Amino acid sequence: MQRVLAYDAYACTLTVEAGIKLHDLHQVLAHRNMALSSVGSISDQSVAGAMATATHGTGVGFGDISSMITQLVLIDGTGKRHVCDHQNNKDLFDAARCSLGALGIVTQVTIQCEPAFALHAVQTPTTLDAAIDDLDKFVHSAEHVRLWWFPHTDNAVAWRANRTHMELESSPDSFIRDRLYGFHIYQMQLYKARFKPDSIPSLTRKHFANRFALQKEWVDDSYRVFNFDCLFPQYVNEWAVPLEQASSALRQLRRWVNSQERERNGARVHFPVEVRFVRESDVWLSPAYHRTVCYIGVIMYRPYHKPVPYRKYWQAFEDIMRTHQGRPHWAKAHSMFYFDLQSTYPKFDDFVLMRELCDPHGIFVNDYIRRHVLSPSQSRSLASDTSRYVAQNDPKL
Ligand SMILES: Cc1cc2nc3c(=O)[nH]c(=O)nc-3n(C[C@H](O)[C@H](O)[C@H](O)COP(=O)(O)OP(=O)(O)OC[C@H]3O[C@@H](n4cnc5c(N)ncnc54)[C@H](O)[C@@H]3O)c2cc1C
Repeated sequence: MQRVLAYDAYACTLTVEAGIKLHDLHQVLAHRNMALSSVGSISDQSVAGAMATATHGTGVGFGDISSMITQLVLIDGTGKRHVCDHQNNKDLFDAARCSLGALGIVTQVTIQCEPAFALHAVQTPTTLDAAIDDLDKFVHSAEHVRLWWFPHTDNAVAWRANRTHMELESSPDSFIRDRLYGFHIYQMQLYKARFKPDSIPSLTRKHFANRFALQKEWVDDSYRVFNFDCLFPQYVNEWAVPLEQASSALRQLRRWVNSQERERNGARVHFPVEVRFVRESDVWLSPAYHRTVCYIGVIMYRPYHKPVPYRKYWQAFEDIMRTHQGRPHWAKAHSMFYFDLQSTYPKFDDFVLMRELCDPHGIFVNDYIRRHVLSPSQSRSLASDTSRYVAQNDPKL
């Protein structure tokens, strides 16, 4: 399901089957001199998967992928086909643009794009305070802004990108700095730190010590600048808090990390903490629903054979995010359940009702949906298990 179905040069929209991968979509768009306005760190996802979880990039003036969709086609759990957009079937449209797959299968989408553009990216060392003391100034310092904070220190790297007509000049990556040290040696050090967690803060400081290596400037096609290498396997947890709560949330997180460092068996956390910004949306389950947000993401290195302790960090992080009206990223680890979600999303009950209408037999209910979207009583009463449903209704399958 990855064909291009229609293209409107005047409106700058493209209609595609929803299974197309973002990597392929960038090429298809470039061929028509168009591009997505904002993209996250990778492009391995399908458009449908990225949309279903409100996947986002960064830029306070730019929405998540769900908000870029102007029309979609959904086959619901009863087999009925719906075409919806801002004018027709508006409620279903607002629910289905971030649906976690719970309403049915999205077969095609129309995406609002913009004329193809290059980005001029500049990466500079800074401090956490320099960014959050006047956050408003920081978020407006470029069209696309993100911050990587190095916990256990006040160090940070600011990444800014603006549309440009400058000549393309690809990223000055070097094998020694970016692959050998930045990936292999650093990963080995993190693995060793698994057995000696007290070394993590000094490892983080050392990584920042050569601050000139963190300084970079380049010009490239937009999607190449938006994407970058996420390095090694990680545990990830990311929440969106209202923009005006972000400085306080980050300060509280820093206080917690510092207090842990003073404790003998306190948590030691890996870098970076990633800070991004997304414009408000009218999609019911977008974490940016009716508020411009700051996404704060934490990671812990995840060696294959020796799990690192990360739950204490996650718990403290989530407690801080909750007290700052946070909503978790749907596609990352989080511990919000039905009642928590109901209290933070004004349209949550409407979404639950829409799910009942679209999928009364629970064809699309999986463990995730059962945990997060079904009320405890629904969870008990619904057949909910695809194989059971199919067996009952069509024993031949
Ligand atoms: C290395 C890495 C980096 C990432 N970086 C970012 C980032 O920068 N920003 C960000 O916001 N997120 C990021 N993510 C999260 C990622 O964007 C989401 O996990 C995304 O949902 C994955 O899309 P997918 O196509 O793999 O979908 P899947 O994982 O297959 O599915 C995701 C959801 O979409 C639903 N779905 C899929 N196809 C359809 C369909 N046709 N109809 C209806 N529902 C459907 C599924 O039911 C499921 O609920 C990252 C993830 C990784 C692994």
